[in-house]
Amino acid sequence: MNVGIIGAGHNGLVAASYLARDGFDVEVFERSDHVGGLCVSEELFEGFKVTSVASYYGMLRKEVVKDMELEKHGLEAYLTDPAEIVLFEDGNYIFTPRDGSGSKYSIDDLTDRDLSGWNNFWSDIGKTARLIAPYYFKPDSTTVQLEQLIRENNLPTIADSIFRGSLLELAGNYFSNEKLKSAVSTCTPGFASLVGTVYGCIHHGTAETSGVEGAWGLVRGGMGSISEAMRRSLEADGVKVKLNSEVTRILLDGDKAQALEFKNGIKKEYDYIISTADHNITFGKLIQESPALAKIPSIFKSSPSNVSAGKLHFSLKAIPEFPVLKKLGHNYSGIIVFAPSLKAILADSLSVQEGQLPSELMMTLAIPSVTDDTVAPPGKHILNVDVHCLPARINGGDWTEEDNRNLLEQVLLRLEKLAPSIRNCIEASFVVSPQVLRTRYNLESMCCWQLSMTEFPFDKRNINNLPAYHTPIENLFLAGAGTFGGGNVTGVSGYNCAKAIARLEEKVAS
Ligand SMILES: Cc1cc2nc3c(=O)[nH]c(=O)nc-3n(C[C@H](O)[C@H](O)[C@H](O)COP(=O)(O)OP(=O)(O)OC[C@H]3O[C@@H](n4cnc5c(N)ncnc54)[C@H](O)[C@@H]3O)c2cc1C
Repeated sequence: MNVGIIGAGHNGLVAASYLARDGFDVEVFERSDHVGGLCVSEELFEGFKVTSVASYYGMLRKEVVKDMELEKHGLEAYLTDPAEIVLFEDGNYIFTPRDGSGSKYSIDDLTDRDLSGWNNFWSDIGKTARLIAPYYFKPDSTTVQLEQLIRENNLPTIADSIFRGSLLELAGNYFSNEKLKSAVSTCTPGFASLVGTVYGCIHHGTAETSGVEGAWGLVRGGMGSISEAMRRSLEADGVKVKLNSEVTRILLDGDKAQALEFKNGIKKEYDYIISTADHNITFGKLIQESPALAKIPSIFKSSPSNVSAGKLHFSLKAIPEFPVLKKLGHNYSGIIVFAPSLKAILADSLSVQEGQLPSELMMTLAIPSVTDDTVAPPGKHILNVDVHCLPARINGGDWTEEDNRNLLEQVLLRLEKLAPSIRNCIEASFVVSPQVLRTRYNLESMCCWQLSMTEFPFDKRNINNLPAYHTPIENLFLAGAGTFGGGNVTGVSGYNCAKAIARLEEKVAS
């Protein structure tokens, strides 16, 4: 049985690996000139290795790491010390060392009651994450079953809100301090005032790095090292990934997917076709007019993502001094979060959806060259800045070069408040705007998880109540982040989809 896979993002590579081990004849086709999709390290500046889109490790399931022998093939994930510092604009902070001594708080009006509520909140989020983590590998699970599971485990408040409440509402049950609320808002995809963000936060809580549950870390060489390790693992199993091989059409015979057509006009027939491109590409571009398309709800043909994200990279001749970090004796490793005020988060949750830049940028920074000497030349550094929650389309149109320059300026203005010397340290910059995600990284939906994580959790990602990964088109399967298991570099969708196809074949054979 032969399988053609569209896309060599990490999910395409994982699907290929498991199918090859189950005896399928697999070919993977990638439009760009490298593997990894959004999980990639690139030489954006000469001599630097930049983890250009996804930067943080933790979500990749250990089963995948083990089965594909990724460590043997070069994957080196590690934890930083400290873990994280959340900075507020007024110079206050929450500082979390890795030594287990607990967070240190510099927040003026913090009460003991707030602090114990905050600790209970994270304890409950962690418990829930551990409860639901195994269900990512059970693709027939539903949100209703998961709510019940959480309730049965004495977490009724979380059960009520995980898929139906907002993170800020939930947090309000535990603590009332505004700075703690703005800090928690940085821990979920999308605006924390919106429904679904409790799940977003718990999803991130399923991370694990170096055996530490809930922990996020970095990868030596950037996230692209994961994809490269996957490519090596596949090659060891005799599977070749074909780069610069854009699929232009999925050819159907009635309601059945039959062949792929490539940019050079060549057509190839397959028993199974898997697309890991987002729904907007799979259903909006690769399938031409066909009655089968009518069976697919429009929400899956062009997911209406209003909110996207951006990333800015800076090559540095020196690390900029953050006076607040210097005072703490901080070593500039780990994650540095810029939390907006609660007032701004609430206002921006509406205006960003209408196409405006946030009034205060929510940002996550890392300087991986502090702990990894492979990503920058000696004496130089690299700064990655994630800007959360940007409008997918700005002021009613596509992002332009001018919008990119404006975003760059806004980011620098925000950084300057806590690192006044930043501009003197920068040699070059690169902006990944939502439009760049679309054009350079083939993310047509501009949604970081192909399909919103908050609106489409677990089985809500399945099309027409079909089993996960199936489509109304026979023999056409999906395995990208837009499917059950969802966004981030988890490998879950690729794994589950491969297993679903293998089970189908077993059934036919018996
Ligand atoms: C700004 C940003 C920051 C993020 N940060 C993190 C993070 O820190 N940690 C984390 O775990 N996750 C992060 N994510 C999410 C994560 O990157 C994605 O969810 C994940 O990488 C998706 O993997 P995938 O294999 O499903 O899809 P993709 O990586 O998008 O792969 C799909 C592949 O299909 C290819 N393709 C598309 N169309 C065609 C065609 N017609 N023919 C051939 N090939 C085609 C594409 O080029 C691409 O390589 C981030 C996402 C964004 C946008």
